[in-house]
Amino acid sequence: MNQEALLAWYRRIQRPLPWRLEPSPWSILLSEILLQQTQMERGIVYHKNLLDRFPTIQSMAESSVDDVLHLWQGAGYYARARRLHALSIEVMQSHGGQLPDQYDELLTLPGIGPYTAAAVASIAFNQPEACVDGNIRRVMARQTNSDEPPPKDVQSFADQHLVRESPGDWNQAMMELGALVCKPRNPLCEQCPIAETCQGRSRPHELPRPKKTKKTVVEYDCIVQIDERGNPELHQRPQTGLFAGLWGPRMEENLQTKDCEYIGKLRHQLSHREMIVSVWKGVGSKGIDPQTVALSSLDRRILELAGIVVNIP
Ligand code: SF4
Repeated sequence: MNQEALLAWYRRIQRPLPWRLEPSPWSILLSEILLQQTQMERGIVYHKNLLDRFPTIQSMAESSVDDVLHLWQGAGYYARARRLHALSIEVMQSHGGQLPDQYDELLTLPGIGPYTAAAVASIAFNQPEACVDGNIRRVMARQTNSDEPPPKDVQSFADQHLVRESPGDWNQAMMELGALVCKPRNPLCEQCPIAETCQGRSRPHELPRPKKTKKTVVEYDCIVQIDERGNPELHQRPQTGLFAGLWGPRMEENLQTKDCEYIGKLRHQLSHREMIVSVWKGVGSKGIDPQTVALSSLDRRILELAGIVVNIP
């Protein structure tokens, strides 16, 4: 593979993302955690809101997890927000408020897996660590014409090609290539700086073969009980499990819905589960202003169905 050509391409076309324009380890970490499961455009907005409210690790550690969840609402995968808050406390307690610069130490922190540890170590601290994620797996599968490359082969491909003098730029170049050129559905091979070495170029759409995952479907009932001022009754969910720590109307697999009005059904996709929620409306007594608590996007849709519109802060 022509590493020089890929690096030169990246340095020419890289998107001016906020964490690239003003890089700091904390800003880079926030971006990596957000972008794991949030699309780029939305990730940029959440990154700005989080960094404005928590400009340092210390400022997050001194806040409550509810403050973090409140800003995180709508971004999904809320366990990330709780782990990030736990990470900030751990960094204050065990690392003197400084994010560690070594891969192995980063890996011990809450919410940091091998990908994020390698990304932060290389991008923020210039450590020679190769990142592996879905983008890199796809580029590797196509470059080597492999239908289903096992994880260890993807990792050794990434390790072998890592440009050790510029690990941060190299990892970002590979990821940028996967995001902008070697795309899952419509790869732009004519624009690819490493097309010459691509053994799978004649059939990129077939590579890599998608992993088979079957989602479980779970049905829930949800009752939105509205008080005389028009506010819904909301309960904080337990700190573990689905939508942990967020607020919402009562929702269970089997709820007694006598005297309630059926108002519709919503489908909601989670990573390994599809939720089908039947929504009911009833009379409540102790509603609270939904704007003041952290809600999941599903709960926001449920309230909307019941005629209560909640804006993302
Ligand atoms: S030539 Fe096409 S399939 Fe091969 S790495 Fe480049 S974009 Fe991907």
